Amino acid sequence: MAYIALYRQWRPKTFADLVGQEHVSKTLSQAIVSGRIGHAYLFAGPRGTGKTSTAKILAKALNCDEGPTPTPCGTCENCRRITDGTSMDVFEIDAASNRGIDEIRGLRETVKFAPAEGHYKVYIIDEVHMLTAEAFNALLKTLEEPPAHVVFILATTEPHKVPATIQSRCQRYDFRRITVSEIEGRLRTICDAMKVEAADSALELIALQADGGLRDALSILDQCISLADGPVTAALVQEMLGLVGHSWIYRMTESLASHDAQSVLSIVAELLAGGKDLKQMMAELALHLRSLMIYQAAGTVEGLDLYAEPEDVLKKQSAFFPTETIMAMLAHLHKCVDTLRWSPQPRITVEVTLLLLCRGITAPAEDQAPESVPRSGETAGEAQRLARLEAQIASLGARLAARPAGAPAAPAKSAAPAQAAGHPAPAAAPATRAASAPPTAPSTPAAPQASVPLPPTPQPQASAEDAATWQKVIDTFRGQHKQSTLACITQGTLQGFRGAQCFLAFPTETLAQLTMRIYRAQVEAVLADIFGHPMQLVCTAAETAPAPPPAPKKKERPPLPPLPHADKPIEVDMSQLPPDEQKNLQNAINILGDNFIEPPEEQPKEPQEAPPED
Ligand SMILES: [Zn+2]
Repeated sequence: MAYIALYRQWRPKTFADLVGQEHVSKTLSQAIVSGRIGHAYLFAGPRGTGKTSTAKILAKALNCDEGPTPTPCGTCENCRRITDGTSMDVFEIDAASNRGIDEIRGLRETVKFAPAEGHYKVYIIDEVHMLTAEAFNALLKTLEEPPAHVVFILATTEPHKVPATIQSRCQRYDFRRITVSEIEGRLRTICDAMKVEAADSALELIALQADGGLRDALSILDQCISLADGPVTAALVQEMLGLVGHSWIYRMTESLASHDAQSVLSIVAELLAGGKDLKQMMAELALHLRSLMIYQAAGTVEGLDLYAEPEDVLKKQSAFFPTETIMAMLAHLHKCVDTLRWSPQPRITVEVTLLLLCRGITAPAEDQAPESVPRSGETAGEAQRLARLEAQIASLGARLAARPAGAPAAPAKSAAPAQAAGHPAPAAAPATRAASAPPTAPSTPAAPQASVPLPPTPQPQASAEDAATWQKVIDTFRGQHKQSTLACITQGTLQGFRGAQCFLAFPTETLAQLTMRIYRAQVEAVLADIFGHPMQLVCTAAETAPAPPPAPKKKERPPLPPLPHADKPIEVDMSQLPPDEQKNLQNAINILGDNFIEPPEEQPKEPQEAPPED
């Protein structure tokens, strides 16, 4: 019999098997028991966290001979066919390999027919964010009037790229990154069942490297088992993953702290002689520094998913540097890893960076273009990047919050001052992108132009009631002095509340992602307090989801709030700002793009663009 990869062999077969997604499996099971089966689900979350597996379990739960049941038998004809992928009623569409328009058109033709074998026709669309605009529009038509026997399951790793029009018609479930100990536990179960001997330290190392994805962890374990001639040990995992022991990291950190350049360089030489990859070297050092930073903040290693390190080392080394220094070091390391990709002399790049760190830096690395950051498959660098972004946004937000609301940040050069002073603006250019093409005449080339990032007050053209509710959220955070949260979420514009969902539109994808990753839990908690029931935050980016949810045709749905009016870009002469403000502003532009806008005024909104009707 052909070899079956571990992750296929151990694919969860029931909701109870799902690792780390209890919130999803519980809610879905309850919905099935109570017969409240939605017609469209959106499964969002990082890769390898169980979205597709859950979709298949849901398909079985609905179509099992004994179903709909939260515990499909797995043995009846329907269950077996769904597992094998031969069911006549379950359709899997991979939007990534095929942008989908033909498939979605075909789907529109076939949805109306009753299921052949089971109770429901289930359409699973994987990586749904990859669909083209036309395919989304075609899908939207079907979602607007789904036949009763049809269930759509849309899975995506990038939910912010799914248009709000689609999201608003789905029940959304967010799959979280699986924790190191959950992954480790699952690996242990599998090893025990397969009678594979594996050291705890080996499994922990695999779990750490898998970065929240169980599928990756299983693939690594699979390779280790096939390589191992006996038990799976930490040394084997390290060898396979190209990791070397951690001791060099501790020595390196010590040398950096004691400004011992010679020792730093000799460690690099030693590692290179041992075949260590430079990029991996920098990445592991960054992971260690991140651990030190987190340890400083938390003072414990419990439940922090730190890079496997003994607490005594963390305790000792975290005292070496102040947090700001670690953040600056991380920024430099991150920049170094980026540069390594094209550097003709990678070793020199690494040595220069390490010597810089050795001299004791206090300022973060400048001129880092966010575009150069890997957009997907991010692992180690991501956490540091986010930490850095968050710190920058927080400092910027605090600075701006301290400024009187009406005051322009600096003498503006062109037509903008009138708006900056708070007068209603005339009909505006397209929202959010406007600032990249200033409407006014070109100005002094020496003075880089940028719009001023005043913290926009959310002025939803959403109903006054929604606006007032959102203001309560803002006030709550203000009361808690959560400056970085405020600085981030107030960049978004409330589009309204709909059912248990809160729609926020951000000018850029980065911001939408940042909010979802870092602040979502906080915002949802506050919303839940206000509404008295769980609420879900949905962030969209103007870049990718330009159309607001349209007013639905069906009477039973209340119309979604309209898009906020297009906001006015404002310009400022950067050279007029004090140097430290210039730096902050430039950081903001690096992070957010130069598309800042004046907070919207109370004014009649302009006509919004409706999505193509056909
Ligand atoms: Zn069954």
